[in-house]
Amino acid sequence: MDPQTTFCPNLECPARGRTGAGNICIHSRKERRYKCRVCEKTFTETKGTVTYRLRTALDVVSVVVALLSHGCPVQAIVFAFQLDERTVMKWFKRAGQQGERVQAHLVEQPHDLGQVQADEIRGKLQGAVVWLAMALQVPTRLWLGGVVGRDRDLGLIKRLIQKVRACALCRPLLFCTDGLRAYVRAIRQVFREPLAAAHGGRPRLRSWEGVCLAQVVKQYTQRRVSGIVRRIVQGTEAQVRMLLGGQRIHTAYIERLNATFRARLANLVRRSRGLARQTATLHAAMYLMGTVYNFCTEHKSLRLPGLVNGHKWIPRTPALAAGRTDHCWTVRELLLYRVPPPRWTPPKRRGRPSNATKQLATQWCT
Ligand SMILES: [Zn+2]
Repeated sequence: MDPQTTFCPNLECPARGRTGAGNICIHSRKERRYKCRVCEKTFTETKGTVTYRLRTALDVVSVVVALLSHGCPVQAIVFAFQLDERTVMKWFKRAGQQGERVQAHLVEQPHDLGQVQADEIRGKLQGAVVWLAMALQVPTRLWLGGVVGRDRDLGLIKRLIQKVRACALCRPLLFCTDGLRAYVRAIRQVFREPLAAAHGGRPRLRSWEGVCLAQVVKQYTQRRVSGIVRRIVQGTEAQVRMLLGGQRIHTAYIERLNATFRARLANLVRRSRGLARQTATLHAAMYLMGTVYNFCTEHKSLRLPGLVNGHKWIPRTPALAAGRTDHCWTVRELLLYRVPPPRWTPPKRRGRPSNATKQLATQWCT
């Protein structure tokens, strides 16, 4: 147990989410509980992780989650580990939520993205069609996030582009997508910000400079690709060529990732008991698969030459290549990662703040 790397999870506490501030001490080694000296509350080591209040050993949970993240059927796990189906589904959902928190904390931070590819997958729920739209950063193969929806429309694409914007810095950026028209409007609507208004009223919006969009339209005859049209919809040819870095306009990387997701989600999407009847289940599954792909899976095209322990290559995960972490994670680490809550802000009250509130604010908000 290390109090220096632990933070207080209490949302009421001014010291929440702060590590190394000296406010955490060990409350009980036997029960593995810490105590926060600021709010005087105790909390268990596993608070805020997937294993919080689980009775099963962590080794079993991490093996089951690793299998689920690779598309192992739930029924196979129920049979092999002699677990209850509802228990497995509960772990699945919790692991998906954990993946979403980790993704938001470590990946959805502004970075220079370069080239981004986006695409949609069509899936079937019980009695309905569902669409998964996902985006990938090309230089590091980092999965930037995905959205699930019943319709492949502007709303779905806009939610996806908003996820990409959360990961992007205001730098030259190229989107490569299929020929779906919604991308054009979604990119124009999302990549802009308000100008400081000189007088009251709605501020004017200014588009980000250097955001380009290139589309690849495949033409089919008798279900076979007969021709490919590449077009630049937004931005100049020189800008696009610079961002492509010698490559042609294509969407091969996101299509490869889609194929992986499609294979792993097949068990969910196929008709089976108590599975994907709801888009929420699919959403959780997608985040589990995406974060295991980003943080735990070594990517062959990202490895670097170098000699380590007699091996000729240094393996890298997409998150490592993108500088979002410093090592390849295990599924166990993903499940145990504690995402800190946002910084505390003093509660808004009428009148002047009291001296005690001011003191807390100067101590914990700066
Ligand atoms: Zn506290």
